[in-house]
Amino acid sequence: MALINENYLKLKAGYLFPEIARRVNAFSEANAEAAARIIRCGIGDVTEALPLAAREAMKAAVDELGDRTTFRGYGPEQGYPFLRAAIAENMFRSREIDVADDEIFVSDGSKCDTGNILDIFGKGNVLAITDPVYPVYVDTNVMAGNTGEADASGAYAGIVYLPCTAANGFVPGIPAEKVDLIYLCYPNNPTGATATRAQLEAWVAYARKHGAIILYDAAYEAFVGDPDVPRSIYEIPGARECAIEFRSFSKHGGFTGVRCAFTVVPKSLMGRTAAGAAQALHPLWARRQSTKFNGVSYPVQRAAEALFSEAGKAQVRELIEHYMGNAALLREACAELGLDVHGGVNAPYIWVGCPRGVTSWEMFDRMLGEAHVVVTPGAGFGGAGEGFFRISAFNSRANVEEVCRRMKALSW
Ligand SMILES: *Cc1c(COP(=O)(O)O)cnc(C)c1O
Repeated sequence: MALINENYLKLKAGYLFPEIARRVNAFSEANAEAAARIIRCGIGDVTEALPLAAREAMKAAVDELGDRTTFRGYGPEQGYPFLRAAIAENMFRSREIDVADDEIFVSDGSKCDTGNILDIFGKGNVLAITDPVYPVYVDTNVMAGNTGEADASGAYAGIVYLPCTAANGFVPGIPAEKVDLIYLCYPNNPTGATATRAQLEAWVAYARKHGAIILYDAAYEAFVGDPDVPRSIYEIPGARECAIEFRSFSKHGGFTGVRCAFTVVPKSLMGRTAAGAAQALHPLWARRQSTKFNGVSYPVQRAAEALFSEAGKAQVRELIEHYMGNAALLREACAELGLDVHGGVNAPYIWVGCPRGVTSWEMFDRMLGEAHVVVTPGAGFGGAGEGFFRISAFNSRANVEEVCRRMKALSW
């Protein structure tokens, strides 16, 4: 028999969302009437229609494929030049951030990119990962054999966990030890926190001092409304020498089902060989993508490009305003109830403290059982998430208003 990758056996069997689904199913089977009333504010998936500009561009691209004179087969693995240029110009250079077209690598998702990026890093790097966290960063390192076993609390040996708490504003302090790879995600999933310029400057200074690399997930960049909140790690001087940035059209343009994202690898970013020689990472990622990936479909890249047209930008703004309006209502409702509320200002997630003595899974069960609202228990994102639950603002306005009403009807 063929040998398997035994690292997979170390994984805590996809605990969070399957467990949520199990509890929701069990509740629904036992309470048929209530089941019809369930409102899902759990998984972070968009709910509103795809922007018209994107749909029109996609349809026109499909018609091009239907005519042999404009037909296209395989495209460039890194993305079509029209999309790389539109991204670099609209998301970076127009904001005076120095990113070249060919530093943009278009892909079918940031989830895959944040996992695949490990292909270009060696073994033995010390990993720093925030707690709570988007589980992909942890699990992909487990699969790659970069960790030991998990302990009873679910923490893996070989990972430096950076606790994100109310006391530090859910932005981790600089670790005392030397680490090599640091995962940061701001605006944050799940806490809805943002990092200040000074906090990111401290991380960039640390990374440059130690030759570490920051893997910066900016999937929620479009939700930043405050001009003082950084949208990109490259707003920080020196970040081009120490950071890779991941961005996605999933939340930005409602593309979770369409699939388009990109990763920025600056040409000035260096790693080193075991022998100590400096090596640029840009050609390694280019080689990785051209070997293992064949590009994003042409209609999808045209749809992403259309988000940068004047009409597209206005439609994206409307979409973001819709979700942020939801976030404001949810925040207000929680605040009115006297709950400890975080996030939801420059991010579509509300991170709510459970009442004293109530665990995050108990809170999940109460919200499901009494309000018929599905939230995400904070503990599912890591040990430091215990005592919190996450409400997603991705929903219709009517559903959000109903969630607020039902929450207010609960006894706290
Ligand atoms: C939604 C999300 C993404 C986007 O993933 P895609 O694969 O591009 O849909 C990336 N990072 C975080 C933290 C997210 O929540």
